[in-house]
Amino acid sequence: MLKLPIYLDNNATTPCDPRVVEAMLPYFTEKFGNASSRTHAFGWEGEEAVEQAREQVARLIGAETKEIVFTSGATEADNLAIKGVYEMYSGKGNHIITVATEHKAVLDTCHHIEKLGGEVTYLPVDREGIIDLAGLEAAIRPGTVLICVMYANNEIGVIQPVREISRIARKHGVLFFADAAQAVGKVPVNVNDPGIDLLAMSAHKLYGPKGVGALYVRRRDPRVRLTAQMDGGGHERGMRSGTLNVPAIAGFGKACEICRTEMETETQRISGLRDRLEGGLLQLEQVYINGSRTHRLPGTTNLSFRGVQSEGLITMINKDIALSSGSACTSASLEPSYVLKALGLDDDLAHSSLRFGVGRFTTENEVDYAIGQLKAGVERLRANSPLWDMYKGAIGAKKG
Ligand SMILES: *Cc1c(COP(=O)(O)O)cnc(C)c1O
Repeated sequence: MLKLPIYLDNNATTPCDPRVVEAMLPYFTEKFGNASSRTHAFGWEGEEAVEQAREQVARLIGAETKEIVFTSGATEADNLAIKGVYEMYSGKGNHIITVATEHKAVLDTCHHIEKLGGEVTYLPVDREGIIDLAGLEAAIRPGTVLICVMYANNEIGVIQPVREISRIARKHGVLFFADAAQAVGKVPVNVNDPGIDLLAMSAHKLYGPKGVGALYVRRRDPRVRLTAQMDGGGHERGMRSGTLNVPAIAGFGKACEICRTEMETETQRISGLRDRLEGGLLQLEQVYINGSRTHRLPGTTNLSFRGVQSEGLITMINKDIALSSGSACTSASLEPSYVLKALGLDDDLAHSSLRFGVGRFTTENEVDYAIGQLKAGVERLRANSPLWDMYKGAIGAKKG
């Protein structure tokens, strides 16, 4: 039996894996100690949980434990990486390079840097959503302190050429920061191959709890230094003060371990379901895949349905299917997605797009049900769509 509504918005957040919840539970009650309490067993227990989680997180991305700084999520990790580098390396320069399709947590942080007097270059992307490497290299100046390119995009799932970006960053001696909130746990990520100097991740995107994440900060070749953005008790080697959220961190660690051990089989299953969903919807005429089909996350697809307003389609089906037209952060506004605009989509097609995020708990039955509902919805909306009539009219005129 199908249970409604069906969740197809796994890029916004994922449910906690029950094994993660189980790993967290003891740390709310009997093992409640402050991980910084050095004088008793309650504290030691908390610290042990944190250090085990640190190992699990580090292992998933090929890092060393000392390179993991726990934060409240990827937003905070993005802020810490960008502001922390900007402040620490002010002697070298004040220029940051990023990309037009980054998450708001990166873009708004960069806008803040500009208000402080910093200079930011926003690289464009091509039709596939991928940056131009020659353009990246040409943007580097003597005063460039950071290249900030996301690993995988949250709206279209497109994976940037991180290996080549790393090579360019190394060649010019510029630090490379990647927001990998969507990539970690979904595709193999190793901070040493290619060389990434800072990397942001978030537990709730990989079946862990909300409100916890981490920043990877390279310790060797080169050693990256950061100005703390949260001052206080000197937790996390001075880079992020504040009493650690032990239960959440324990859950984050467990979630990383599950991703590491199950990634291979899970990727196959999830990409199979994504392809099934995509294939089913592409049976409708005039449906376009937004962004690269080859360089993207296994569970994500972003589709435009010509002649259909995505808000109307979502309203029609959201009793049964949970979906979004773009990132959760901007879905309240009526503006079309800036990510899709950066790909060169016209306003009509950008307003006709849906983001699908298939996840660990998505089933084949759910996908088939969603295909049926969406196809019916699109056909119904097109039957009353002046845009669709205009489009069909134009085609008819061309043919005639
Ligand atoms: C979800 C997400 C974030 C924000 O992460 P939080 O942990 O929710 O703060 C940042 N960047 C990307 C690419 C994301 O997908």
